[in-house]
Amino acid sequence: MDQIKLKTVGKNEKSRALLDMAEDLISKAKLHFPTCSDKSKASNQFDCEKKAKSLTYLEFTKKLIEETKENLPTYKIKKLRVGSQDWSPILAVKIIKQKQSYWKIFSMIFYISLFLSLAVALDAACPEIVSRAAWGARNVNPQAMKVPVSHVFIHHTAGATCNSKDACSKVARQTQNYHIDTRKWADIGYSFLVGGDGRIYEGRGWKAVGAHTYGYNSKAIGISFMGNFDKAQPSAAMIDAARQLIDCGVEKKFITANRQIHGHRDAKCTACPGAALYSIIQKWPGFKGGKLPGYVC
Ligand SMILES: [Zn+2]
Repeated sequence: MDQIKLKTVGKNEKSRALLDMAEDLISKAKLHFPTCSDKSKASNQFDCEKKAKSLTYLEFTKKLIEETKENLPTYKIKKLRVGSQDWSPILAVKIIKQKQSYWKIFSMIFYISLFLSLAVALDAACPEIVSRAAWGARNVNPQAMKVPVSHVFIHHTAGATCNSKDACSKVARQTQNYHIDTRKWADIGYSFLVGGDGRIYEGRGWKAVGAHTYGYNSKAIGISFMGNFDKAQPSAAMIDAARQLIDCGVEKKFITANRQIHGHRDAKCTACPGAALYSIIQKWPGFKGGKLPGYVC
């Protein structure tokens, strides 16, 4: 939820030291990231998340500037900018080393640009989504789906787990191959997959008819957790990523605000998404379990 990524731009050999300091600042600022689970007293979990999201960015910016003033008097925050790259809002921070009197002759100004992928910021709360091109998907012709949809189905792949972008990309490719070559589907069945690395992997995406839930493929988003979650529980990072993805879909109007969340087993007699994962999603706002209309066996 408060995943932060840093990247230096420029090859200044001193920039490593600056980056270390910036990382330190950010870890301090992270303390001020309220997450919903920290605020479990709140009566409405969903509202709590939304509120926390809008506070997060402002709090973070304020704290970053405060901490810089306090701990690094010779540095100042020069620029704060919010942009967008892929699905993730980006906060770019430039830290400039100020000249000091005894450094006048040898003064050097070091520039760093830090790109912070804030999984939660402002009102565009989207997790990092690894694109089809990035995980090496085979190209197919998608069938357009009418959006927004009002159902979200949670699945598990019941297969391998993974803990890195490379490993999860491989699982995505294997799943796609299996769905196309063995199941004879047009593409990987799911709209999105959740990797054990906490990243979202784009399947058919928001706007294409899926092959994940019989009877609901043209009116639902199907999100599949990579791994088998019958007994094992998915990590907090996986759960956060999936929930952010659903929020993101609502924000971007691919999913209706009054959407219902189901497990695959609510539409078909299957163990999917596994007993352990199913018991988790039962607590999510908007969950609706039990046999849905058109339930098949
Ligand atoms: Zn399923």
